[in-house]
Amino acid sequence: MRFSKFAHIYECIYADESYYLIRHSLTNKLFFFNEAEFKKLISSLKNKEETKETKELSNHHFLVPNAYKEKKFAEFIKEKYNLNKFELEIIYLIFNTDCNMKCKYCYVEGSKEKSFSHQSMDEETFNSLMEYLKKLIEYQKKKNPNKEKLVFIYYGSEPLMSKDLLARSLSEISKVCSKNKIVPDFQLITNGTLLDENIVKEIKKFKVGVSISLDGNEAVNDAMRIYKDNQGTYKDIISAINLLDSFEVPFGISCTIGPHNIDILKENVEEFIKINTKSIGFNILLNSRYEKNFSMSLNKINDKLIEASSLANQKGYYEDRVQRKVRAFNGRTRFKDCGGVGNQLVFFPNGDISTCEAYLCNRESKVGNIKNTDISEIEKNKVVDYWTKRYPLNMEECLLCPSIGVCGGGCPFNAETISKNGIYERDKPFCVHTDKILSWLLKKSVEEEIGQKDPYIRDISYMYSQNFP
Ligand code: SF4
Ligand code: SF4
Repeated sequence: MRFSKFAHIYECIYADESYYLIRHSLTNKLFFFNEAEFKKLISSLKNKEETKETKELSNHHFLVPNAYKEKKFAEFIKEKYNLNKFELEIIYLIFNTDCNMKCKYCYVEGSKEKSFSHQSMDEETFNSLMEYLKKLIEYQKKKNPNKEKLVFIYYGSEPLMSKDLLARSLSEISKVCSKNKIVPDFQLITNGTLLDENIVKEIKKFKVGVSISLDGNEAVNDAMRIYKDNQGTYKDIISAINLLDSFEVPFGISCTIGPHNIDILKENVEEFIKINTKSIGFNILLNSRYEKNFSMSLNKINDKLIEASSLANQKGYYEDRVQRKVRAFNGRTRFKDCGGVGNQLVFFPNGDISTCEAYLCNRESKVGNIKNTDISEIEKNKVVDYWTKRYPLNMEECLLCPSIGVCGGGCPFNAETISKNGIYERDKPFCVHTDKILSWLLKKSVEEEIGQKDPYIRDISYMYSQNFP
């Protein structure tokens, strides 16, 4: 008998007493022991005595036979959750590669191939795409009659550069979905500056979820988010928000963290609530392939992000970036963090199909084109399969990571951009993000369980990595 390599033992030390927390890194299950209980547990293991505790730890795969193979358990989890199979949940629609702004940190523009010229979807491609989506939705429903929902994300560069196509596609897709008894969940990710009454009416009619990018107050936002003529965008974003408000269209704010707003993230939460946002999302800057990236302390980014997300949460606003990890830690294990890893297809303006929206201006993750890709072949497509399997349980370096059950593997695009060695490299800034959040969650659980603040927590699994006799 021995502890599984997925069982992590943490010593939680206060000035005059210690506690022990044992956590299964894959299932996120955890057990607390006080000093006496933990000593008793180790003694029972050494003496081969079966107790209520050893039985329970065995039932939850913390204690395993000496010949146990951790990889086999990982295989079981993959099978159980069908993780190596493509399952379409999200469709990205990008009608235009261009934008009316030139934010200083834009990774799409910064990852543009030199030879790439901007594309805008023409009438013929739009009609072919609508026909393609019709067949794709029918195919999905036939394959899985229980499928009830598909998410459609309008994304860019800036999706409102093609308002007419956006409005027409909402209507066409709604009809096809209704015929197939699928509820479309439309989402628009926009800089907001091109919103007008007509498009807001369409947004309202089709219940489109709107996410507006805003990084803070006028000075902060306009330090990064500017028009092509260098003018600030803040005033126009606020007008757009007022317009949405006047039509009673709910919206969320998407805030990108950078050197310009890192010190005011908590103030941002208060500001965003004041302007009537329904949700708050923080984005961590992705690296650009060809432009110089902003260098920031990963410690600082994550500490500030956790503070701001907690504040939003306390005030009743869900902030997904951190809270998705809180949910995983509390039992909803997160094996994949990126839709591109087996759950989404992205359609570009020239009809190209991709796994990831970040390849808008360079097409390295190209799956095919709507003109020549058979819908029934998509799941067997080599690029789709390669992406679908890119998650920590399939990555040698990740398998025994203590954070694996809350991680999801971060952003393959970022991993490739930083490493220049393909998407199966780790997204290392994301490892820091996950590790910091796990440490914070462990500390919070100990504080809640013991009722005392600020324990020192160290991983002492190495002390018990041997087999018990
Ligand atoms: S690779 Fe990154 S940018 Fe692309 S879909 Fe995944 S998380 Fe998004
Ligand atoms: S990506 Fe990093 S944090 Fe996530 S499981 Fe792999 S090593 Fe751990």
